[in-house]
Amino acid sequence: MDTTRRTVLTAAAAAPLIACTGAQPRVIVVGAGVFGAWTAEHLRRAGARVLLADQMGPANARASSGGESRMTRGTYGRDEIYTRMALDSLAEWKRLSDRASLPLFHRAGVLFFFDRMVDYARQSIDVHRRLGLPLEQLDNAALRRRWPQIDFDGVEFGLFEPEFGALMARRAVEEVAARFVRQGGEHRLARAEPVGANTVRLDGETETADAIVYACGPWLPKLFPDLLGERIFVTRQEVAFIAPPDGDDSFEPSQLPGWADFNGGDLYYGFPNLEGRGFKIARDRHGAPFDPDTGDRRVSTEGQALLRAFAARRFPALAERPFTEFRVCQYENSSNGDLLIDRHPTDAGVFLLGCGSGHGFKHGPEAGRLMARLVLDGEAPDARFALASKGAVHRREVL
Ligand SMILES: Cc1cc2nc3c(=O)[nH]c(=O)nc-3n(C[C@H](O)[C@H](O)[C@H](O)COP(=O)(O)OP(=O)(O)OC[C@H]3O[C@@H](n4cnc5c(N)ncnc54)[C@H](O)[C@@H]3O)c2cc1C
Repeated sequence: MDTTRRTVLTAAAAAPLIACTGAQPRVIVVGAGVFGAWTAEHLRRAGARVLLADQMGPANARASSGGESRMTRGTYGRDEIYTRMALDSLAEWKRLSDRASLPLFHRAGVLFFFDRMVDYARQSIDVHRRLGLPLEQLDNAALRRRWPQIDFDGVEFGLFEPEFGALMARRAVEEVAARFVRQGGEHRLARAEPVGANTVRLDGETETADAIVYACGPWLPKLFPDLLGERIFVTRQEVAFIAPPDGDDSFEPSQLPGWADFNGGDLYYGFPNLEGRGFKIARDRHGAPFDPDTGDRRVSTEGQALLRAFAARRFPALAERPFTEFRVCQYENSSNGDLLIDRHPTDAGVFLLGCGSGHGFKHGPEAGRLMARLVLDGEAPDARFALASKGAVHRREVL
């Protein structure tokens, strides 16, 4: 990125809202996915008057947060910043889950397995050691003994994180939003159009606020085409669920963790049979460009075949089992996979939050907290989350 552009993107500076006005600030958060819902909740907790607006409601069917389950894990290779965020966020998720009527977090553990020692694994081990986080390293024989339902052919070792697991994504976001409303926040079903500094049109009505946060996931490039059109890459991602053998408990979360296979080539990942919904499997390779409004949400025949072949190879008991469900969702990727938590470079009082990049869900609580601090205290988060760091060339680095 050239330096002139960088200067433009970082030019606007905002004074802290509370210090500036001395009154209760009014903030509008647009987008009730995981990022917007947690931002609204943190702003409310900090004393702001908050309206959370979404065109289709919290964690709706087209939102990236609208899936059944999302993995939370601390294994991030060298990217300790995300290990820490995942850990801090997990504390919030667990508190919320403990208070909710149905579980939002299943502590199933997470198992990553590798065909050889690679930098990503070595760096993950180092980070966990440094942070004092439990991480078990198991060789092939130990893996086979512990999880006989997985065929570990070609696998040298695995890394198992016992404290992490699965978040029930859609339900969890609904719970955050419902709690936010119960505690005095306002939620409105409305479509937003950015107008400029401190102003937004909600279903045609012009509203002003001390701050407006756009947490619109894969819609951000449509709302800010000049700024984000080339900086956010929205890709089509396919997911399938398979019915485990009847009466077989080896695919239950008590017996099988969330998992990811790092054996060269494409990365596949999935979950045990959470709450009877089926064994989940997906390929983590970025798919074709995707429009969240009009994209076809039927899984391709080719995608089905790939997921079937992988499941049959690694989980032989599933080879003949029926698919129970398919989903197409989208990743909203930044150039390298880093999140976006920043203010708009020219429109005062406008803030941007997004770029979950296929790994953002788990970080919802921390991303929301950092955005609330940026809005209320003017405190800038890590430079990696800045708009200026987002390039126009798609080269994934965060895994
Ligand atoms: C298949 C798949 C698997 C994934 N797996 C994982 C995982 O295992 N672990 C993990 O941590 N993350 C995972 N992710 C990533 C994670 O789900 C996303 O990063 C996260 O959900 C993004 O949340 P968001 O709030 O930014 O966006 P969204 O959830 O998409 O929310 C944006 C909201 O903005 C609203 N909106 C948009 N435009 C407007 C407008 N003009 N007016 C009003 N409202 C508007 C939308 O209706 C939507 O509700 C996965 C994603 C996918 C697709």
